[in-house]
Amino acid sequence: MNACRACTSEDLYLFLPLGDHPLANGFLTADQLGEPEPTFPLDVYSCLGCGLIQVDDNVPAGFFRNYVYVPSASDAMKDHFGGLARMVARDLLGAPEALVVDIGCNDGLFLTSLQQLGGRTLGVDPASNIAAMARAQGVEVVNEYFDRAVAARIRASHGPASVIVTTNTFHHIGDLDEFTAGMAHLLADDGVAVVEVPHALAIVEENQFDGVYHEHVSQFTVLSVVKLARRLGLEVFRVDPLEVHGGSLRVFLRKPTATGPLAQVEAWTSREERHGLLSRSTYDEFGERVDSVKQRLLALLSESLAGGRRIAGYGSSARGNTLLNYFEIGTDVLDYIVDRNPLKHGLYTPGRHIPVLPAETLESAPPDDLLVLAWNFADEILAQQAGYRAGGGRFIVPIPEPRVV
Ligand code: ZN
Repeated sequence: MNACRACTSEDLYLFLPLGDHPLANGFLTADQLGEPEPTFPLDVYSCLGCGLIQVDDNVPAGFFRNYVYVPSASDAMKDHFGGLARMVARDLLGAPEALVVDIGCNDGLFLTSLQQLGGRTLGVDPASNIAAMARAQGVEVVNEYFDRAVAARIRASHGPASVIVTTNTFHHIGDLDEFTAGMAHLLADDGVAVVEVPHALAIVEENQFDGVYHEHVSQFTVLSVVKLARRLGLEVFRVDPLEVHGGSLRVFLRKPTATGPLAQVEAWTSREERHGLLSRSTYDEFGERVDSVKQRLLALLSESLAGGRRIAGYGSSARGNTLLNYFEIGTDVLDYIVDRNPLKHGLYTPGRHIPVLPAETLESAPPDDLLVLAWNFADEILAQQAGYRAGGGRFIVPIPEPRVV
């Protein structure tokens, strides 16, 4: 990488070279196991000009057309999007015919929640299998990668957007200039864009290196969004913290006003600077902590195996695949991984080729230990699997620190 994709600074620091990885969502069918699996470098940089943690977007776009992550598989995400829809309807919607565009609408969970509360809705999503799921829910979808040209077409056909929402999408985007300029063009003069992004501070402080994969090319600071927005005709005017995905931000943007810097936004950027997100040493220490997590987790797992215990994984998430591939945990350790998303059942994880089975497997053939790969949903998983725990099953949670529950 030569320059930061948010602020264009060339002061990039390579602090976590994770090596070559297959795509974290590149699950394989049994037939594909014998074929060569494409891998791409996953070198993690930080921008010392704005704190954006980033990896190169070196994967050809065609690899992402068939997408297997759907938020509707998770109760926590259903609650999250229900809450977001109520906030948009209450605070941002204005007129009942106002246009709300969800860029990266996935299976339409947010827009179907919003439709019950008002507003004209339009989704944009490049994955054709996912767009079909949203359409089946009654959501109109533009099946494209969002950019300036798509923004201009939507504005011509539907008018300017009063509200643009983009959740779990912005950190997938390699060309943030194109995407952000598109949002600025589509937004009405008095409109508001709501962008949800993983917060680099949570990533660093809670050892969440596994949130980095080829599809998650950026982890944001408030400062990085402020600098990006300023270059492309938008302004950050409010930031709310979120608990989802292990610590995220909800950033509110609008067309620039004459009011100047806002105290609430400045409080965030100075907090980020105080926590060292613009300092090289912060990232050196982060890299050392990731190594220590690896050593301690591998020790826990080998101890369990040596004691004759059988181990399975819970939650075949993309972040879990980053962890398994970087820590080299394969079928010699995990018999299988269970997941509630039926799209993944019968498939094998990229790289380590661990079979993914339905959650009911825990009842028919319970393992002794469960490695919680979707640790960001640990509370939900522990509650759902109370029966497994009552029967003597243990959970091993790897991040932020390896521990047995
Ligand atoms: Zn930067």
